[in-house]
Amino acid sequence: MSNKSLTRPLVSRSEFLVGSLSAAAVGLGLSARRAFAADVRPLPVLEVAPGVFVHHGVHALSDPANRGDICNLSFVVGSNGVAVIDTGGSFGVGTGLRAAIREKTPLPVTHVVSTHMHPDHVLGNAAFAADKPIFAGHHKLMRALAERAESYIEAAKEQLGDAFAGTEIVLPTLGVETQSEIDLGGRTLIATARPTAHTNNDLTIRDTGSDTVFTGDLVFVEHLPTLDGNLRGWLKLLDVLEKEPAARVVPGHGPPSMDWPAAAADTKRYLNVLADDVRKAIAAGKTMTNAMETAAQSERDKWQLFDQHNARNVSAAFAELEWE
Ligand SMILES: [Zn+2]
Repeated sequence: MSNKSLTRPLVSRSEFLVGSLSAAAVGLGLSARRAFAADVRPLPVLEVAPGVFVHHGVHALSDPANRGDICNLSFVVGSNGVAVIDTGGSFGVGTGLRAAIREKTPLPVTHVVSTHMHPDHVLGNAAFAADKPIFAGHHKLMRALAERAESYIEAAKEQLGDAFAGTEIVLPTLGVETQSEIDLGGRTLIATARPTAHTNNDLTIRDTGSDTVFTGDLVFVEHLPTLDGNLRGWLKLLDVLEKEPAARVVPGHGPPSMDWPAAAADTKRYLNVLADDVRKAIAAGKTMTNAMETAAQSERDKWQLFDQHNARNVSAAFAELEWE
């Protein structure tokens, strides 16, 4: 043990939980965070239903200018506390979200819920460590994040440059097995663990107070869907979700509030085209490389970030469908 770790100030419970993973990967956590705290601008948020706020991230890859602010981030205010749903792609984005919450309510942040493991959704979690919330996620999130912690942190450092400061992986303290209720006072959130689709740890959250469903990346709008789970599972799950009525949904990427199930139409169309084209390529004896250049090209003009993500989706789909 080094002198440095002996003199490290006392950390909060949640920081302690992430310590073993993050201290090695990110030695600068605490000091960088203090430096950062001086310049915190609240993220703009839209109240999509009473007490339900959404920050709309840009459609882009994470870079130093956008700081990883590239997906939708939300919070729900009850009469006793606040639940945050996804925290952004860096500690800086998380602090901006926290500042936005402080502008709306003095109530404590009691829960930070992650819709799934992807860095643009979870890397802001450390900004809430001092609030000592319950960090909730799908029961498979813990393992998924632990396995990828090092590679996610390395990639984020490279993508974010100076905007990486303070960023850590925070492991969940509550794993949702099937369904969990979060009582915020006067309104309850129902978090539901879903079977493998966009990832193997997708969680949907329904705010019963406003009948709003946060789909995470099970629904993409405008931004090309990215496949990191199971294509057939995702299509099957969308059929199930479409039958669960909601007043509105907040997609992982896209407008902050949308009609349901209309919001799922584009994601579903793309995933079906992807599956059809990849199946045809396999049946015709094409190589994966060939499929990566040709499959789903008819969707190219319908999405942002198509060229950045489609080839990878095809390779994931090919690997899955090759054996069906
Ligand atoms: Zn995702």
